[in-house]
Formats: sequence, C-alpha cells, structure tokens
Amino acid sequence: MIDQEVPEPGRNELLLRVLRVGICGTDRDIVAGFYGEAPPSSSFLVLGHESICRVASGSPIAPGLKKGDLVVPTVRRGCQDRCLNCRAGESDMCLTGHYKEHGIKQLHGFARELAVSDAGFVVRLPEGLAEVGVLLEPLTVVEKGLLQATRIQSSRMKWKPESALVLGAGPVGILATALLRLSGLTVHTVATRSSRSLKARLVERTGATYINAKEAPLEGMAGRYDMVFELTGSASVALEAQNLTKVNGVVSYLGIYRDQIASEDAGSVFTNLVLGNRVFLGSVNANKSYFVKGARDMSAMKTRWPGLLESMVTRVWDPERCAEAYSHGDEEEIKSVVRFA
Ligand code: BGC
Repeated sequence: MIDQEVPEPGRNELLLRVLRVGICGTDRDIVAGFYGEAPPSSSFLVLGHESICRVASGSPIAPGLKKGDLVVPTVRRGCQDRCLNCRAGESDMCLTGHYKEHGIKQLHGFARELAVSDAGFVVRLPEGLAEVGVLLEPLTVVEKGLLQATRIQSSRMKWKPESALVLGAGPVGILATALLRLSGLTVHTVATRSSRSLKARLVERTGATYINAKEAPLEGMAGRYDMVFELTGSASVALEAQNLTKVNGVVSYLGIYRDQIASEDAGSVFTNLVLGNRVFLGSVNANKSYFVKGARDMSAMKTRWPGLLESMVTRVWDPERCAEAYSHGDEEEIKSVVRFA
C-alpha cells in the first residue's frame, strides 16, 4: 500500500470514489508475476479491475451522470492503432493486442480511494446494487459468452437451447448459473466442493442442480447439454468438456489454462466437433454493451433470489490488510473484496 496524489481527471474523464474492488484469479496471477504490466510511465501497477464506484467529479461530468451516481467502469480501452473492432466500441475483440486494461495492462486499476476513468466507459447501476455491484465485471464475461454462443448457432440453424452445464462454481460459475437460470435453461453446475458447501447451496437456490465432481464423473454427462461453460481453468477438464454437448452444442471456454496435458485422442475430438456441428468458443473480456445488459440482469437476480448476490461476497477486507487479502483465500471463499469507502 502506498500514498499517491489524487489523480487529476483529464477532458472527458471522471474522478471516481471507489467503494469496493473484487479480487479474482487474474489479480492473484499478477501478484504471482504471471501476468500484468505497469503503465509505461510507472514502476508499479495499481491492481483492481472489478470495482464499484461513485462519481466524485468530472470535466465535464458526462451526460446522464451526476455526482454521487453509482457506477462501474469497464476494464479494457481500445488500441491506439484504432483497429476495426476498437473503433466500433468492441475493444474486447481487439485485433492488434495493443489494448490496455485497468488494473491489468498498462493502466492503473481501481484498488485505490480515488481513481480516474474515461466518462464514456462507465455504466450506471441502481442504488440497490451498491454492495454487490463489484460482481458486475465477472458477470459480463459470461454475458458475452452466452450471447455470442447463442448468436453463432442461431445464425447457422434453428437453435433453441434447453440445457446448460457449468464447469466450476467460483464467482463466475455461480454468476453463469444464475444468468442461465434467468434465461430459462435447465442448469447443472459441477465443482469439487461438497454438496453442503456454500457454493452448492447458492447454485441450488437458483433452481440449478449442483453436482459434486468427486461423486459423479464427467464421462457420465457426455452428450447431454446444448451449452457448456468451462470455468475451471483446468486443461484436462477443458478437454473433457468437448464431449459433453449434444449435437449442435457449444462449449464456451472462459478460463486460462496453465497446466499442460497431452491428448491421445485429438482425432476423435475433432471428428466429434465436425459430425455434431459443434462450436468450441473462446471468449475474453467484455465491452460496455455487456456491462449495460449485466446491470439489468443483476437487478433481475436481486429480485428473483434476494440475498444471493450478497452471499457471494464472503469476505470484506480493509486496504491495510491487502497482503493477506490478495494471497490465497480461505476454504469457503467465493468473492473477497477490498472496501475503500
Ligand atoms: C478480466 C477481463 C480481462 C482478462 C484478461 C479477466 O480477469 O475479467 O476483463 O480481459 O482478465 O486480462
């Protein structure tokens, strides 16, 4: 933790009073040195890409926003090459890889009392989401995966998905489960915790079925789902995921895979892909449109399952204890947050 000058918002930028930031796997990867890049003019990187803030001031404050409004800034800013997708507002699909990301790549993050963001990249949230708005950024990753999977298959055929499998019940897995349930799908969520764990209980509150992977191996689920969301970050699970969809199914990969495995059966994986008109979809980050949609869906989740999102925030840390907060979490951790205001 260090002392910094209050950042000065430039033209079309907002000064934000940060309420909370979330801690995720990417943050821990940065702390461990696997990932992350400081801004070119800085010898350090301020962490924090999942945040919930209030507008403190701006020059000018953007239309539709006023001081005190609850907002979430998006993470990624488009490349300076102004590639086709960044120009279209879809920096999540940047072609050059020269994008920047708050708290991750070349832009300071929001793990500070006061931070600055471009006014055009913040999304307003209703007051009722002040405590849980920090979950919006992880939700957007699934919003994008779901929308793109649906668009792809619906543009190829008549496609009415009915069932989904979520692999992993971390914050993104639970949010995926809730989003898929909101969309009316039958959802099974698999993870390694016991069926009595908090994760299992939260999954079941949404009307989804929780499956303990230690009791029910994935082979038994082969060919059963229209959509599979892979969120475990385990390459061997990722490989198995490819057998779990029905024909015309989509497997969306939203994790980062560090473990290396050898597949002896790559041929049958690809044959299965072809013969089933399947799609293996990789998806990262989310542009502002998914934050806008996610904000609406979070309100719907709050109404439908009161207390669900709140229960996902399992620990609130003071910034003074950041070293502990960013080291590995406890057994029942779902989302740890650092509270700034
Ligand atoms: C964030 C994404 C980001 C990605 C890669 C994830 O943790 O949710 O917004 O693009 O890391 O940097």
